[in-house]
Amino acid sequence: MTTPIVYIEPGCIYCQACVTTAPEVFLFPDDKAVINGLVRVDGITSPNADERAALVPDLDWDAIREAAAGCPVDIIKIA
Ligand code: SF4
Repeated sequence: MTTPIVYIEPGCIYCQACVTTAPEVFLFPDDKAVINGLVRVDGITSPNADERAALVPDLDWDAIREAAAGCPVDIIKIA
């Protein structure tokens, strides 16, 4: 079974809520949230909006979904 893809569309307002909710997946290294390459099959740390890389198995999907639902500008997408 393929794991869902998580990506972040442009428009991050730097609130860091996703990093607090799901720190295993979301990082805030500079001026916008990104998906940690350590939990991506391609190993790239970026918003994943272009690559659309799958995530590795056995992540905390409750936390990931909570982070997506809690984004105040609704730009965290699960596909
Ligand atoms: S919750 Fe949304 S707006 Fe806030 S840092 Fe994460 S992606 Fe950016």
